[in-house]
Amino acid sequence: MKNRDALRSALLAWYDRQARALAWRVSPADRRAGVRADPYRVWLSEVMLQQTTVPHATPYFLSFTQRWPTVSDLAAVDDGDLMAAWAGLGYYARARNLLACARAVAGLHDGVFPDTEEGLRALPGVGAYTAAAVAAIAFDRPANVVDGNVERVMSRLFAVETPLPDAKPELKALAGGLVTDDRPGDWAQALMDLGATVCKPKGPLCDRCPVSAWCAAFKGGAPETYPRKTRKADRPRRHGVAYILTRGDAVALVRRPPKGLLGGMLGLPTSAWRASPYDDAEAVAAAPVAASWRDLGAVEHVFTHFSLTLRVFAAEGANAGDFVWTPREGLGALPSVFLKAARAAERLI
Ligand code: SF4
Repeated sequence: MKNRDALRSALLAWYDRQARALAWRVSPADRRAGVRADPYRVWLSEVMLQQTTVPHATPYFLSFTQRWPTVSDLAAVDDGDLMAAWAGLGYYARARNLLACARAVAGLHDGVFPDTEEGLRALPGVGAYTAAAVAAIAFDRPANVVDGNVERVMSRLFAVETPLPDAKPELKALAGGLVTDDRPGDWAQALMDLGATVCKPKGPLCDRCPVSAWCAAFKGGAPETYPRKTRKADRPRRHGVAYILTRGDAVALVRRPPKGLLGGMLGLPTSAWRASPYDDAEAVAAAPVAASWRDLGAVEHVFTHFSLTLRVFAAEGANAGDFVWTPREGLGALPSVFLKAARAAERLI
């Protein structure tokens, strides 16, 4: 790109003035004073932020780093405790990968994160994006850190007409052309901030944008129409039933199998999740124990690959069954889909 250095200077100067204050971030001023980012905190934040917003992830980040200040502390945690602490962040495979990675760093690397993209990529559960982000932000390596925000910024800066997802390699290459050895960590974070606060998906704030002078989509007059997209196939819908079985003040939970969706988490007992809805008789037949089940309606939940309509049935007083009886006040740690179902039972939590 022509004037690449001028564009870089404009964005970095903007970042110096108004970088977001994030719990895991070392400010540009502190970085200039020689403060280094803690790779553990950078890695943890990047894992949490995958498909989770900053406001949602921040309290989890603060709680995790208070309970487990180092990667070795995290590596020593019991799987169940970690899953409970992760509840509400969703995408539970990430929590399992988090633990596998922490244990590899603690066990194989004496608690010290590798300082190259390749070394980081070799850790369990660390993908190309996370490796690049940690290499750039924690170790100032000139890594090309490209997430959805950066793809959007590139598609607009260069008015890329190829629709997503086909455009991904092109957008990555364009982003790579802007990376240099000068302040790679700040550059990655400046682009993230630009995408999150100015070059927003629906309403880009071009009048406040530090790089509008270089932006082809802005010049074209319709920046919000980028990135171009192919029509997304509709998410399939599945149906299931969740069962709220109470005994006094306690609610019956089950530990889900270690593999698969919400693997290893405690949850409400459910029927199988399938393509067709359950009628009343089927819902009662699929219950974990025989009881006087009453219909409490249904809740909706959206997972990455499908939407779920979950009918909720409740009953009291059953003893049979292999359950983890949990006081009502402990239900707040359930994954969101079960929290929604539990909330359908009036005053349960
Ligand atoms: Fe995004 Fe507008 Fe800036 Fe272009 S000028 S990068 S569209 S905010």
